[in-house]
Amino acid sequence: MTTDSMTLRESNIAKLREGVVYDALIIGGGINGAVSAAALSGKGARVALIDKRDFAGFTSQQSSNLAWGGIKYLESGDYLLVRKLCLSRNELIRSYPSRVKEIRFFATIDRGFRFSPFFLWLGTWVYWLFGNGFTRIPRFLTKDRIHREEPVVKTDKAAGGFEYSDAYLHDNDSRFVFQFVRSAMDRGCIAANYVESLGARRDGELWITRARDTRTGETFEIRSKILINAAGPFVDDHNQVTGEQTEHQHLFSKGIHLIVPRITPHQRILTFFADDGRLFFVIPMGVRTCIGTTDNRVDTPETEVTDADRDFVLENINKRVALAAPLKREDIIAERCGVRPLVVKRQGGDGSGRDWMQLSRKHEIDVDRAHAHLSIFGGKLTDCVNVGNEVARIVAGLGIDLPHAGYRWYGEPHRSVYEEYMHQARLMNLDSYTSPESIEPLSSRLWRRYDQQAFELLAQIREDPRRAEVLIKGTDYLRCEIQLAKRQEMIVTLEDFLRRRSKIALVVPRRQIQEAEGLMDACEILFGEAAQARYAEYFGESRSVTRAQSRHLESDAA
Ligand SMILES: Cc1cc2nc3c(=O)[nH]c(=O)nc-3n(C[C@H](O)[C@H](O)[C@H](O)COP(=O)(O)OP(=O)(O)OC[C@H]3O[C@@H](n4cnc5c(N)ncnc54)[C@H](O)[C@@H]3O)c2cc1C
Repeated sequence: MTTDSMTLRESNIAKLREGVVYDALIIGGGINGAVSAAALSGKGARVALIDKRDFAGFTSQQSSNLAWGGIKYLESGDYLLVRKLCLSRNELIRSYPSRVKEIRFFATIDRGFRFSPFFLWLGTWVYWLFGNGFTRIPRFLTKDRIHREEPVVKTDKAAGGFEYSDAYLHDNDSRFVFQFVRSAMDRGCIAANYVESLGARRDGELWITRARDTRTGETFEIRSKILINAAGPFVDDHNQVTGEQTEHQHLFSKGIHLIVPRITPHQRILTFFADDGRLFFVIPMGVRTCIGTTDNRVDTPETEVTDADRDFVLENINKRVALAAPLKREDIIAERCGVRPLVVKRQGGDGSGRDWMQLSRKHEIDVDRAHAHLSIFGGKLTDCVNVGNEVARIVAGLGIDLPHAGYRWYGEPHRSVYEEYMHQARLMNLDSYTSPESIEPLSSRLWRRYDQQAFELLAQIREDPRRAEVLIKGTDYLRCEIQLAKRQEMIVTLEDFLRRRSKIALVVPRRQIQEAEGLMDACEILFGEAAQARYAEYFGESRSVTRAQSRHLESDAA
């Protein structure tokens, strides 16, 4: 195969096989691996990144999509953690004005709850101060006010409530993570998805990692001075196969979300305490609503949504919001399910000393200096800039030269670049191409998703306006976006595109996607001759749609 006809992934795998010695090889392309790659490559290190699934194909696609200080950790006395997370949240809002946005949390408290609304409202002021007063100020909500402003909330048992701010990821977590991988690649990182580490050994001063291309089964070796284990819930497994000892280890807490038709038109997060006493959110997700989450200790990272999980979430929501008809299992459009990797000390660290739900969400990086090995435990999407900076500091401390140590590796382009983009978009009347399905002007959406690369899309549309046609009906994806995705976004399976680079699979019922006009055209752009095979691979597997759902979707489509 010539280099010209290779995909980005194939050419990156060819580079990984060349036998070059990387400064660092990162195992895992979730948020922790992605920011490590972006920070290190931005600062001038020679970096490789592999993930055995798609980037953000495990935990980092299952979060609540929030960048938040963790108000609930005030109750468990984790003040330092809350302070740190609030500052991280502020930094994300400042650095990603189009991707991470402040949002109001609109909380309703029932009578007889363990704290009064007034006391909790005072707590939100403490929280606001922990965040240096960066966000809008909290508000006390009387029962009447809740009813007036959010009539969908049942107030018969309410004692009152409060409103405060945190932030959310406008697109979704997996897109946010991919943008770090993309930015790492723009700075020289060699990244490949669907490449698994089978384990690594020391050879003199180097790490030799045995890698396997999970699409072809081929194995090869990658050489690096440092090994960074960012395998999320699989950090301990990977350390075991490489023989690494660590001070910390992971425990797992399962959490699910259900995506249902939109519950309220307001762009705010309705907040309740579920029957188990845990915070429970109704989160806007474009034209849909995402409800969750749960928190149950499990022993293994692989989990799935059970009927008991579905019923817990549905019962809780139906108790607290008044809809024309209560939500039923058949109303579920999509589901999310994952485990939080929670860090505890290995010695006596079974979490038993502390209430399970109050186990800390901090991160820890264990460093084996003698072997130049890092293990990243725990963490949150919110914490990602700290993790990237900390990894870069440790790697420099291990003797890797970072010629651009002061480089700011994260954040959207400078405001003047954005203004130039918007100017060009206005001159060509870009927003007139906005799809009727879209909830925002096309210019904003393209900037948020592609920033610098959005200029290329403008040029393409100027050259041939047909490239601005919506390719997949029922979504807002343009022909030129899919062409760009083909070249730049390392899409290997249809799920990579529908579930992670875009959020189509989260907001459009599966049957509707399957029958959408233009989907096969999109597959042909993305996969060429393999279009039919990739389509069959995705729709052939019906595991993520329950029987009840398919019945519902069939009647929907009829
Ligand atoms: C229900 C839920 C809600 C959450 N809500 C929030 C929230 O609102 N805000 C927030 O900040 N955080 C939230 N979190 C936490 C956050 O999602 C996680 O902390 C974070 O995504 C973990 O990222 P990670 O990179 O450590 O792990 P992962 O995303 O799991 O990445 C690890 C990667 O390593 C890969 N891998 C594993 N083994 C190998 C191998 N041998 N070779 C190659 N690759 C390998 C995996 O395929 C995976 O992609 C939530 C988590 C859950 C479960």
